[in-house]
Amino acid sequence: MGARFGNPRRRTPPKVDPNKTAAEIVRELKRAAGPVSDYREQSLRLHGLICAKCGREFEAKDRHLLTVHHKDGNHQNNPSDGSNWENLCVYCHEDEHSRGLLGDYFRKSHS
Ligand SMILES: [Zn+2]
Ligand SMILES: [Zn+2]
Repeated sequence: MGARFGNPRRRTPPKVDPNKTAAEIVRELKRAAGPVSDYREQSLRLHGLICAKCGREFEAKDRHLLTVHHKDGNHQNNPSDGSNWENLCVYCHEDEHSRGLLGDYFRKSHS
């Protein structure tokens, strides 16, 4: 029952590559943060806080209930004019995707 030493591995500082410049590290951090939240903000600004499907309007405080749907299903395709985005509330968004899958399923099994 002696005093136990803490696991020394726990306190290893994050590795810093000495070959990298500060600018490079900052660039990588920015890339890690990603444009993911970026297109959402853009789409909400472009199309407004309204669901394209059920027409439900949202207030700023409920904006988290609005999601951005990619019309072509490609999340990498983010034209700045918003032509590939649709603002859908979480309910319609789920509906949109489950229906697409089911639609494919039925089309295949009935043809
Ligand atoms: Zn909706
Ligand atoms: Zn979607």
